[in-house]
Amino acid sequence: MSSVLQTALQYIPGIGPSKALLLHQELQLSTFEDLIYFYPFRYEDRSHLYPINTLTSRLSYVQLRGTLSRVQIVQAGKKRLVACLRDNTGEITLVWFKGLSWIFKKLQVGATYIVFGKLTAYGQQLNMVHPELEIATTPPEHAHQDLSLRPVYHTTDKLKARHIDSKIVAKSLHYVLPQVAQHIPETLPNALLGQYKLTGKAQSLWNIHFPKNHHVLGQARFRLKFEELFYLQLQLLQLKQIQVEKRKGKILHNTQLLHRFYKTGLAFALTGAQKRVVKEIYRDLRSGHQMNRLLQGDVGSGKTIVAFLSMLICLGSGAQVAMMAPTELLAEQHFKVLRDLAQPLNLTVVLLTGATKRKSRTAILDALQAGTLQILVGTHALLNVAMNFHNLGLAIIDEQHRFGVMQRAQLWNHQQADLPHVLVMTATPIPRTLAMTFYGDLDVSVIDEMPVGRKPIKTLHYYDAQRLKLFRFLREQMVADRQVYMVYPLIEESENMDYQNLMDGYESICRAFPDFPISIVHGQMNTPDKAYEMQRFAQGETRLMVATTVIEVGVNVPNATVMVIESAERFGLAQLHQLRGRVGRGSHQSYCILMTGTQLSSKSRERIQTMVQTNDGFKIADVDLQLRGPGDLLGVQQSGVLDFKIADLSQDSSILQAARESAQRIIKEDPSLALPQHLPVKNQLARLRDHTIDWGSVG
Ligand code: ADP
Ligand code: MG
Repeated sequence: MSSVLQTALQYIPGIGPSKALLLHQELQLSTFEDLIYFYPFRYEDRSHLYPINTLTSRLSYVQLRGTLSRVQIVQAGKKRLVACLRDNTGEITLVWFKGLSWIFKKLQVGATYIVFGKLTAYGQQLNMVHPELEIATTPPEHAHQDLSLRPVYHTTDKLKARHIDSKIVAKSLHYVLPQVAQHIPETLPNALLGQYKLTGKAQSLWNIHFPKNHHVLGQARFRLKFEELFYLQLQLLQLKQIQVEKRKGKILHNTQLLHRFYKTGLAFALTGAQKRVVKEIYRDLRSGHQMNRLLQGDVGSGKTIVAFLSMLICLGSGAQVAMMAPTELLAEQHFKVLRDLAQPLNLTVVLLTGATKRKSRTAILDALQAGTLQILVGTHALLNVAMNFHNLGLAIIDEQHRFGVMQRAQLWNHQQADLPHVLVMTATPIPRTLAMTFYGDLDVSVIDEMPVGRKPIKTLHYYDAQRLKLFRFLREQMVADRQVYMVYPLIEESENMDYQNLMDGYESICRAFPDFPISIVHGQMNTPDKAYEMQRFAQGETRLMVATTVIEVGVNVPNATVMVIESAERFGLAQLHQLRGRVGRGSHQSYCILMTGTQLSSKSRERIQTMVQTNDGFKIADVDLQLRGPGDLLGVQQSGVLDFKIADLSQDSSILQAARESAQRIIKEDPSLALPQHLPVKNQLARLRDHTIDWGSVG
């Protein structure tokens, strides 16, 4: 490690010990090395001079070159300093409201200035308020020479109060970069630099701070993003390699039971995607290494049967199975489905939840220990009995749309020498870029194909003013014996108002449909009442269900064909998609109707349009990623994995893909990085190891 890079920031002229301390406190910058990785967050485009007669209000920041005249302080109205800037095409007014006399003294009438600032429209006229000015030092024919993109750095109020602003950071970098340039090691192998035409490390760092033009800036960004993603992928792949080697798993390879069921017990043909995923799981189960697999599949894509077939491989090999669901309702639903599937095979399936009576619980524990209980389904209550399995082979976790999934999966891990295999199922598709990073050390299977014969749900956007049309449509559907959901938002901050809306909505629906029985379900009702109402709706006794998002998870009513979502603009995309998944479960055409007012933000509008345009959960997840950013999407801002210096998962999927492939190739070709051409990689990994994320806390 070069000592130049480790030089403390206080040795930069103009910084000194106390400002250095503040930089450390405010921005965690201590050394020259820290500073060169402190990238600008935007650039002022000083590469362009605009002729004054080409300015329009659509331009924001512009740079001009002109002569100053008519400098004066105006007393009328708000006191201000104005000046006229003229080039050979026209003139524009510059305005100051603060520091008038000081600026007035500095301005030189008749001198030529380079002026930079933001245009503001003032009536018909364009002004520039508080511009930056510099006397032009070069003759006009060489004016382009001192033009460039200027870096802008984030600083904090405390730093600014001590006069450490973006300009001081830039000046410091101007001092530091030339000194450290020759000490910055190249961190990527030559082969990769050549293959992707990447600029060298030191040059990229120079250009990210002081780019001459957009082209070299683009190259620098590409190179630095590539490097960042490459090393993340490399670390994740190495971690996976270690885990696979370290974690012995039970060898489960007996498929007799699976085949017996497959020949007689299956009412439909599996989709290609389902078959592929079962094969992927089978490969893991018989490998001798513990499976850690995430199964992604949209609502209705048929994950349950895949889970069941995996169970059969496990049970056929003499081991037991646990299946865990996030709510009692879902656990019960799984229990019923699995019991029906398992019955012809004479397998014992038992349900365990927090509500299970003590006596049956004791019986369950005995059966678990004796090994006579084969499939145990339940809620998180299962974790308390994880140690009691005679021979647990496979733990399946159905998390629907929650993300902290793997953490919970780890809970199965500390019990025995040969670990149970773990399969986590989620119905919220995660964009590939996120899955590749956040779950980069896991295996991911995807069911990206719906069972045949499903009619895609039609999604419509209605404004509140179209309510009569909506009611006519709902009546048609109910007359045709179909059922309807009507969902109201319930957001904690506005809970009381939301309940009021829900109740108002319920009353107006009762008035509009006096001839149909209607259910209402919301979070303030007690559990038995909720269950009773849900039951009535599920059995078709009520035709319309007014509810908050409590119905989001789990409810399965194939006869329900319409999902109306009130104030749809208040829901996130993932949630809208989940809600829509409650319909389209039977053979009839289903509809999702999104109700909104006419005032919509551009993001809301994009969410609604996305829903109308596609039923594909992966496309929706991609848009969600663009709109919300990865941290928000996963609810893991603080985790560290997604704290990139420059890469951006919502923009850089193709760079990520290239980086991942490169990392995979290198690991495969040279697992211990012993080849001389991989020395830069080996060295960089060692450097990163000192600064890296605590992977144990992630995913
Ligand atoms: P999810 O992935 O949302 O858990 P389920 O496993 O509940 O989906 O499946 C939804 C419905 O589709 C179930 O009724 C199931 O029996 C049915 N199903 C699953 N796979 C197929 C298939 N290949 N062909 C036809 N129907 C299927
Ligand atoms: Mg399911």
